[in-house]
Amino acid sequence: MSHTVFVSGGSGYIAGFLIRQLVAEGWTVHTSVRSLATEAQVRELLQVDNRRLRFFAADLNVDAGWAEAMAGCSHVAHVASPLPMGAPKNADELIVPARDGALRALRAAKAAGVRRFVMTSSVAAIAYGRGRGVHHFTEADWTDLSKPGARKEISAYIQSKTVAEKAAREWMATEGGTMEFVSICPSVVLGPVLSRDYSASLVIVKKLLDGSLGACPDIGFGVVDVRDVADLHVRALNAPGIAGERFIANDRFMKLGEIADVLRSKLGAEAHKVTTRQVPDWMVRVTALFVPLAKAVVGELGSVRHQSPAHAKAVLGWQARPAEQSIVDAARSLLDQGLVKR
Ligand code: NAP
Repeated sequence: MSHTVFVSGGSGYIAGFLIRQLVAEGWTVHTSVRSLATEAQVRELLQVDNRRLRFFAADLNVDAGWAEAMAGCSHVAHVASPLPMGAPKNADELIVPARDGALRALRAAKAAGVRRFVMTSSVAAIAYGRGRGVHHFTEADWTDLSKPGARKEISAYIQSKTVAEKAAREWMATEGGTMEFVSICPSVVLGPVLSRDYSASLVIVKKLLDGSLGACPDIGFGVVDVRDVADLHVRALNAPGIAGERFIANDRFMKLGEIADVLRSKLGAEAHKVTTRQVPDWMVRVTALFVPLAKAVVGELGSVRHQSPAHAKAVLGWQARPAEQSIVDAARSLLDQGLVKR
């Protein structure tokens, strides 16, 4: 393999594992960071053959840098998008960089003659806006932002991923030419962390471990391993005949209480602060009147969202390791990095 691939957001959690796998498989990688001042630090974390990795400065909100970063690249993995720990004051703080950044990346990719563009979307673009209950989702589904009140009820992050993937697909339909587009839609990504600067998706495991989550509300989410998400991106970059496709990356849906049980049973004394106590729905609703974190979960109470990984398995031969392993590896790694107060 002698291709050159551009990976946006080289400082990120998923991008780190993706760059490692790509370099190990012989690709030359161009990657972007917001400022080249972070290049040395990111190189130190990635620990790959530095001759195969080049850094460029590019911000999702600014035109500069994208063309230079993609020059000479045959493939793109557009991974960067804001994934903050908390909710922004204004949803546009996430929607605008997610959407406009994807369009900037697409325009630069087409101008550079890129053949395959893989976008990291999310199950956030698939599985929301349907109301509560038990739902089964596939790649044919889209999060519905059209209902009255949806923009108020659906989080800014979920909106940003939905709007960005839709905008990218609309741009491809009219402007894409012969460039091929594929999107990857991971559920909540867990697994080992490379650094102390961990992704927002690990927060729930951290909060369980340090005891700051005093009880488990009746909520849950799909879980997938960061190593398997990276692997699915590589498969999507390589596989012929998948232009236009969308692939869910998920192992299985788990309730928060189940995740707490896994930590308790696999980590022993290290999980002594992990609560398995369930908090009734009415108490979450009352707490939500005063506590923003509780407010954020009220709409999720009782919901079950199964997101099928069957398509990625059938078409790309992808396999997902068991969610339990991703949870335990995330926890051990947060503990090893000293990120959890014991
Ligand atoms: P992450 O570690 O927070 O990485 C996000 C990356 O985006 C970082 O490199 C960040 O750069 C970059 N970024 C954010 N705003 C930017 C801007 N304005 N300009 C340039 N770069 C910017 O999160 P992650 O978990 O790896 O997520 C990567 C992708 O996967 C995102 O598209 C996310 O929506 C998607 N995803 C994640 C999950 C999950 O559970 N983690 C699930 C589904 C989909 P800085 O380091 O400079 O902030």
